[in-house]
Amino acid sequence: MAERINVMQPWLDEAETQALAAVVASGWVAQGPKVAEFEQAFAEAMEAPEAVAVSNCTTALHLALVVAGIGPDDEVVVPSFSFIATTNAVRYVGATPVFADVDPLTGNVTADTVAGVLTPRTRAVIAVDQGGIPVDIDAIRAVTDQLRIVVIEDAACGAGSTYKGRPVGAGAELTAWSFHPRKILTTGEGGMLTTKNPEWAARARRLREHAMSVSAAERHKSILPLAEVYDEVGFNFRMTDLQAAVGIVQLAKLPDIVARRREIAERYRAAIDGIPGLRAVADPEYGESSFQSFWVEVGEEYPTDREGLLEALAHADISARRGIMAAHRQPPYRDLTPKNGLPVTEHLTDTTLILPVFHQFTDEQQDRVIAVLRNPGGASA
Ligand SMILES: *Cc1c(COP(=O)(O)O)cnc(C)c1O
Repeated sequence: MAERINVMQPWLDEAETQALAAVVASGWVAQGPKVAEFEQAFAEAMEAPEAVAVSNCTTALHLALVVAGIGPDDEVVVPSFSFIATTNAVRYVGATPVFADVDPLTGNVTADTVAGVLTPRTRAVIAVDQGGIPVDIDAIRAVTDQLRIVVIEDAACGAGSTYKGRPVGAGAELTAWSFHPRKILTTGEGGMLTTKNPEWAARARRLREHAMSVSAAERHKSILPLAEVYDEVGFNFRMTDLQAAVGIVQLAKLPDIVARRREIAERYRAAIDGIPGLRAVADPEYGESSFQSFWVEVGEEYPTDREGLLEALAHADISARRGIMAAHRQPPYRDLTPKNGLPVTEHLTDTTLILPVFHQFTDEQQDRVIAVLRNPGGASA
């Protein structure tokens, strides 16, 4: 029996272990100096003036909506074609998610799909870099800026991807990032909110820490206990120094991670180009993907359908995944399905699957995957 191939594996080694040991030895394990150091390094890497570390990307999205002033009377445009957290965040602030369809090539919302669902109540758009493919943020902002609609980028999968030569996220007013192990960089669980707006950043910093007027770090510096005030209802969305120490090591690996993932994607694409009925995701002309998810669409010409290909891969001990979900098909959001449906979203959700890509993936392992793609009936024949 061949060794099992996972769809994703984080790239963790001795460097992360040592960074963790140093934090343990320091005695300061909750949010403190390492979180501040990680924020600074991340802000620099993503060309963002401000970075606020939080517990995960879902809480980053939630905070983004809060600091942008989105509330119960507001509509927020989101792709249904995304992990459900994108839509859930809108509900956390009491606003109404409005689903926009996506482009069939990128899987991302576009200026046209967003423009088609705007109403006088639209106050924000969450544009996702789906699977790492950069969203065309300038085109969307050309439509929304004049209407004073806030654009939030969900770059959960976007670390290492570029848009017009700059890191993704730099063109949005607020950008949310994930460090879940399924993403490009990991801190176990973790997230970041970046923004150019210093007031929003300052408010997010307070809100993540119960809206305390005195941070834990400030309190620690002062022997005499400082009196603190809680000006509004805050949250506990803090990252720990244990996580941040891992994040600093991971961030230094980002160029290597992206280079290797793009090499793997290129190799897949070269093979898939010659297989009738399969179409592989590709870079859009305005940017480069880190290929957090490398997906293929299974067309009519292919000898089996998406489910058949998933089974063939499983039979060869290769773990793949169904493509990106469609939030509007899930029970909390079914009643928000637009009248004419979301045809591209539904098509991509039903016909795509995600192939293994991870830093340690070997050419031999990839050849095993490619062999199944070429001959999905081979295993049972
Ligand atoms: C993974 C993901 C999230 C949620 O990230 P967490 O860090 O797990 O909260 C949100 N949006 C998108 C597009 C994602 O892929």
